[in-house]
Amino acid sequence: MPETVVMKFGGTSVASAEDIQRAARRIVAAREGGQQVVAVLSARGKTTDDLVAAAFEISARPLEREMDMLLSTGERISCALCAMAIHDMGHSAISLTGSQAGIVTDSSHTKARILDVRGDRIRAALTDDRIVLVAGFQGVSTQSHDVTTLGRGGSDTTAVAVAAALGAGVCEIYTDVAGVFSADPRLVPNARKLKLVSFDEMLEMSSSGAGVLQLRAVEYARNYNVRIHCRSSFDDAPGTLVLGEDETMERPMVTAITHAHEARVTLAGLRDEPGVAGRVFGALADANVNVDMIIQNEPVSADQRADLSFTVASDDLRSATEVLAPLGVGERTETDPHVGKVSIVGAGMRSHPGVAAQVFRTFGDHEINIEMISTSPIKISCVIAAERVPDAVRALHEAFELGAEAVLEEDPSGVHRPRVAS
Ligand code: ADP
Ligand code: ASP
Ligand code: MG
Repeated sequence: MPETVVMKFGGTSVASAEDIQRAARRIVAAREGGQQVVAVLSARGKTTDDLVAAAFEISARPLEREMDMLLSTGERISCALCAMAIHDMGHSAISLTGSQAGIVTDSSHTKARILDVRGDRIRAALTDDRIVLVAGFQGVSTQSHDVTTLGRGGSDTTAVAVAAALGAGVCEIYTDVAGVFSADPRLVPNARKLKLVSFDEMLEMSSSGAGVLQLRAVEYARNYNVRIHCRSSFDDAPGTLVLGEDETMERPMVTAITHAHEARVTLAGLRDEPGVAGRVFGALADANVNVDMIIQNEPVSADQRADLSFTVASDDLRSATEVLAPLGVGERTETDPHVGKVSIVGAGMRSHPGVAAQVFRTFGDHEINIEMISTSPIKISCVIAAERVPDAVRALHEAFELGAEAVLEEDPSGVHRPRVAS
């Protein structure tokens, strides 16, 4: 049996006709190298953004079911065009929608979860010696029989789920950067390409804003032990392998600095009694709003009223405020639609107590005010003013000596061991 490879191409990698031809050539080269190939494609360039904008031009509140019908068209276009290109290169190819490819999801429109991949049709096409193109970012709910989409960046998850279902050796994610970097290379020009990242670190990175891999794709890869190779679609250089921790030899203290933009909600003047937080977060969960950071202190004021703050994705702010209003749990609700979040991630932090202090000192030195803090064993996140995010990311990247040149100067072996001030 030939080995199966899943190759996913992101939006920039299929934007122009030339880009589609380039992706097709790469797919064909893998097939000619003896592999069975399933390619998962994203919508071309900014197509998904344009479709979202088109919906809001028509309606202030587009129906979610119809939104999914609309958004799922973008990836279908890419797949049909790429199948045509592959045919012209002398190979047989078939494009499939998510539903045709057997991607079964729950019915939560615009952020559906994959429940199952019924890969029979893909397998049959591969057996017929065809290259299979699967439209990313979409599936079908067996409950409602409706088309669903998987949330922004969801083609990564399609690719990993297909790789898991087919037992593919690797899931290759071709994108517009050379791999996973120590910070977003658009913000930090000297960011370092990471050779290996563990699933746990990548989960923390994706959940704190490293959009290069969608969070659910990394969760899925960890659960099914699918290796991800994230690399450039514009050259052949190896990129970053994301794999189990026992396989990563490198254990740096700090791996990366990530950033994100979110919205904050503060419920002021809450009654300090059991059950209030349960009602607040229960209502948010029922509305499918993901809550990120949560801060609440025991009240110190005489009237025993507490303030509760949390952050949500900017897109979810409206739903959050709508479901909270009728609960009437606080004296008032304040929102800030634009806050920044900067995080530092590294598996080695577990055993290095100085990291938090150095993060806070660095912010202090740069006069950056920290508004909220949360930690996990391998991550520290701080909410700060949105406009200070670029400064904060660069300052931390430098303070922890994550830049490419720091590695070369300090350790020619390439193993990165940044210092922590004690
Ligand atoms: P695609 O369309 O190929 O899925 P995305 O735009 O979703 O591409 O993801 C690639 C982008 O992720 C890069 O252009 C880069 O700006 C951004 N990015 C953010 N953080 C990182 C990081 N740590 N390493 C690499 N890229 C990152
Ligand atoms: N086209 C979708 C998006 O822009 C899915 C993806 O590219 O992964 O979010
Ligand atoms: Mg993406």
